[in-house]
Amino acid sequence: MLPIVKVESISKSFGAVRVLEDVSFNVNKGSVVAIIGRSGSGKSTALRCIDRLETVDSGRIEVCGHSITSPKLDLQQLRRDVGIVFQSYNLFPHMTVEQNIMLAPRLVLKGAKAELRERAHKVLAQVGLAEKADAYPSQLSGGQQQRVAIARSLAMAPQLMLFDEVTSALDPELTGEVLRVMEKLAADGMTMILVTHEMAFARKVADEIIFMHRGKVWEQGPGSMLDAPQTEELRQFVGSGL
Ligand code: ADP
Ligand code: MG
Repeated sequence: MLPIVKVESISKSFGAVRVLEDVSFNVNKGSVVAIIGRSGSGKSTALRCIDRLETVDSGRIEVCGHSITSPKLDLQQLRRDVGIVFQSYNLFPHMTVEQNIMLAPRLVLKGAKAELRERAHKVLAQVGLAEKADAYPSQLSGGQQQRVAIARSLAMAPQLMLFDEVTSALDPELTGEVLRVMEKLAADGMTMILVTHEMAFARKVADEIIFMHRGKVWEQGPGSMLDAPQTEELRQFVGSGL
C-alpha cells in the first residue's frame, strides 16, 4: 500500500491552547479516511495543516510527494494536487456555474478555452449537474451549489480530496445528494479524507475511521470500531448520536 499522505507526530497550538498533540496517521492511495469527533477536537485544524492552510509547530507532513513542512514547499503545485471543500461553498455569485468551475483551471492550468470547457462539463457530469452549466449559483439549491463546489475542485484533477463537514449547512433532504457524489468519487478511486458527522456514511464509505478527541487520535480503525469502542470517549461519542 502506497501512502499518499503521511502525517507524522504533528502538534499545533493557537496561543496557549494545544489544538493538535502528537497526531499521526497515513492515508493510502485510493482509500477513504473519515475523521470524526466532537466539535473542537481538532478535526478541521488537522485537515487544514494537510493542505498547508495552517502550519504545524512540530512534526512532519508529506502529501502527494510534497513535504508540507519544508520551507521549500511549492504551494502552487500542492494546491493543484489537493482539492479541499468546506461547509460553505463560496461560489462567485456573479459567475455562472461553468465560469466558477473554469476560473482556477484557466488561471493555473492555462489550457485552450475549448479544452477547459470540456473539462468543466466532464466534472459537472460527475456531480450530476451537466445541465446547470449556465445557471447562476442563486438559481441552485444548497445541495447543488455544494456539488458545484466539489466539481470546481475536481476540475484541477487533484490526487487527493479533503472534505470538511460539507453537508453540515444543508437541510437533511439535500445532504443525501452530496453524500452520493462523494460515495461515487470514492468508488471511482479518489483518495479522500473527510471530516463528517454523518456516522452511517463514514461507516459505509471509509476504509478507516479516525476518532479525534482533545487534539489527539484517540482511536483508529475500520468502521467496525464504532461497534466496539475501546475507550469511554468513543463510546460516549457514538452513543450521543453526533
Ligand atoms: P473541530 O474541527 O474538531 O471542531 P477545530 O480544529 O476547528 O476543531 O478547532 C480545535 C480548537 O482550536 C478549538 O478549540 C478552536 O477554538 C481552536 N481554533 C481553531 N482555529 C483557531 C484559530 N485560527 N485561532 C485560535 N483558535 C483556533
Ligand atoms: Mg471543524
